Amino acid sequence: MLFGSSGIRGLANKEITPQLAQKVGLAVGSLHNSCVIGRDPRTSGEMIEHALISGLLSAGCRVTRVGMVSTPTLAFAARKYDCGVMVTASHNPPEYGGIKLWNRDGMAFDSRQQEQIESIIEKSGWKTAEWSRIGRVNETSAVEEHADMILGKVGAASLKVVVDCGCGAASTITPYVLRRMGCSVITLNSQPDGFFPARNPEPVEKNLEMLKKATVAFGAELGIAHDGDADRMMAIDGSGRFVEGDKLLALFGLREAKKSIAVPVDTSIMVDDVLKGRKIYRTRVGDVYVAEELKKRNADFGGEPSGSWIFPKISLCPDGIYAAARLVEIVENEGKLEALIDGFPSYPLVRGAVPCGNERKENAMRKIGIKLKKMGDTSSIDGIRVDTGNGWILVRPSGTEPKIRITAEARRGVDELYAKAEKIVKEAVS
Ligand code: MG
Repeated sequence: MLFGSSGIRGLANKEITPQLAQKVGLAVGSLHNSCVIGRDPRTSGEMIEHALISGLLSAGCRVTRVGMVSTPTLAFAARKYDCGVMVTASHNPPEYGGIKLWNRDGMAFDSRQQEQIESIIEKSGWKTAEWSRIGRVNETSAVEEHADMILGKVGAASLKVVVDCGCGAASTITPYVLRRMGCSVITLNSQPDGFFPARNPEPVEKNLEMLKKATVAFGAELGIAHDGDADRMMAIDGSGRFVEGDKLLALFGLREAKKSIAVPVDTSIMVDDVLKGRKIYRTRVGDVYVAEELKKRNADFGGEPSGSWIFPKISLCPDGIYAAARLVEIVENEGKLEALIDGFPSYPLVRGAVPCGNERKENAMRKIGIKLKKMGDTSSIDGIRVDTGNGWILVRPSGTEPKIRITAEARRGVDELYAKAEKIVKEAVS
């Protein structure tokens, strides 16, 4: 399997090699006549991009390069071509590289399209063009159109905002967009650098200490953080507190979702309580599954607490830059972020795992399923999730480790709920 839940990703120049990239280019070029290609600032980016282009041209595909851009910028640019190709490893550490493929509507290639590419590569079944039909490369900029699209959707704002681009691709666009909105923008780590010297590219709280301090020190109303390719956005409130992803999800959901919202199975029930009256579709964990569900259900908004926010009226690609602009607009119009999220309830959540050999996982999950069914409504979208009315339990076999993971959240009595689930899992694996 070449593709994981976030495209093709692995160690640069070991797993993600120019040889592999060229084959991906040949396969994509055999199916599409034109494409737009961009990359994040990783050290492997140019190497992989050139290998991809060589394969694409060999298959007769017309290639347009847009240089170093954010993933949402590339996905937005893809609307004018047959597809988009992004060279990125998103929030992974600097030694990783990757390739993600996009449809014109901003949706990542789905599993059927990924299998098609895999099968061409496996069978060396690509086309090679006659000498007279080899593709050509042309270069353009994609940032301005993406910025204009965002600025056409949000109003003016005069907030003071600190933006931590994490030395990633957001450096090319977020500070620019927020300044054009009228904000006073202070930038942190806004020089693209494939070594990600300032912080790990993942926008989780432990990586954002500098942003928290800067937000308070500059007296800013808001701090904004992105991952390496800026499809994710997380926030710091004016008092320097990290805003949990579930709370941002509820905040956006309240304003964007009139009828329905799509979220992964491990999202807090706080979101259910805050968005009462709206239909909540739960999906497998991964932003591509949220996007697929949004498209299928024609839902109003979707998101993952890890910082991916999907506004289907804009694009089916999570857009961290639009999300930042929208959050600025909300705070400008409605007041302090602290006050907007303080009314949301907070429920305790417990995570743990029980060791279980990979070969025994399937059998154990079957036994666990039978017992969990007795506790409430179950769903098997991703692992087994049981809704007890007062809370939920999610039991999922780890994809990478010999473990079965347990998550429990409850309005009351979470420890008892977790203990019950743990007992069931332990019995099933013994
Ligand atoms: Mg990303």
